[in-house]
Amino acid sequence: MLIFKKSQDISDYLNKSRAKGQSIGFVPTMGALHDGHISLINRSLSQSNLTVCSVFVNPTQFNDPKDFEKYPVTIEKDILLLERAKCDILFLPPVEEIYPKDWKSPSHFDLGELEKVLEGKYRPGHFQGVCQVVQRLLQIVNPTTIYLGQKDIQQCMVIKRLIELGKLPVKIDICPTMRDSDGLAMSSRNQRLNADERAIAPALFEALSFIKENIKSGPTNHILYDAQIMLSQKGFKVDYIAIASAKDLQLIDDWNGKDQLVALVAAFLHQVRLIDNMLLN
Ligand code: AMP
Repeated sequence: MLIFKKSQDISDYLNKSRAKGQSIGFVPTMGALHDGHISLINRSLSQSNLTVCSVFVNPTQFNDPKDFEKYPVTIEKDILLLERAKCDILFLPPVEEIYPKDWKSPSHFDLGELEKVLEGKYRPGHFQGVCQVVQRLLQIVNPTTIYLGQKDIQQCMVIKRLIELGKLPVKIDICPTMRDSDGLAMSSRNQRLNADERAIAPALFEALSFIKENIKSGPTNHILYDAQIMLSQKGFKVDYIAIASAKDLQLIDDWNGKDQLVALVAAFLHQVRLIDNMLLN
């Protein structure tokens, strides 16, 4: 696996590959890699001539500085996992390669309602930071396809919007959420759970499954209330548990029995904030 730390070097290398007609699959990550990330790498490897993974913990998308400080960093293990997966290229930039002094990002990306609900509401500024870094990474890597995880469904929609706004020539491939055998969605943040918290954490998956099994047309408030109680009783502090349109994440209070739905949850187990979602129909 080739490892690049400088933006110019990886751009030059990939420009030559592109000129030879090679397709480039890109998997942006913040490291602390797990099998969820590797599933994206595998999807890219099966569809692209070259697979590029980036590991960059982007400071501008953390609305809480403590969360940034505590974000797990396991770069040596990440390199081993990527080599084992046969990833072609790792981009591992220091912060000044992503945000050089002369680089100007738009001061605001017009994300509309998407950044006012759910994660947007509870993490103000988060999606602006995501757009900033993804726009910059796309400029450097210029991939054929970007591979993203359904686990961060709102982020997928935000990046789709970013690509539309910039009319960028890149395809998006959204890959299913990888879970541990007890249902817990794999996440870098799971590393921060102690044994007791880890034992409780699958309740997020159970609450989403409960909604999926019991959803009926009509008002959604009762089922959401029951799911919220399931979580509070286990010790979660719930930011939100919601049912929304799978098309645009508009919240659904009263379901017509037809629209495609997704249930989404974000909750703290003590210091650790976890998110998950599940398509319902
Ligand atoms: P992160 O390192 O958390 O920024 O995630 C990098 C990419 O991996 C994003 O597109 C995530 O949606 C995706 N991802 C994270 N967790 C999972 C998972 N459990 N299954 C599939 N994809 C995931």
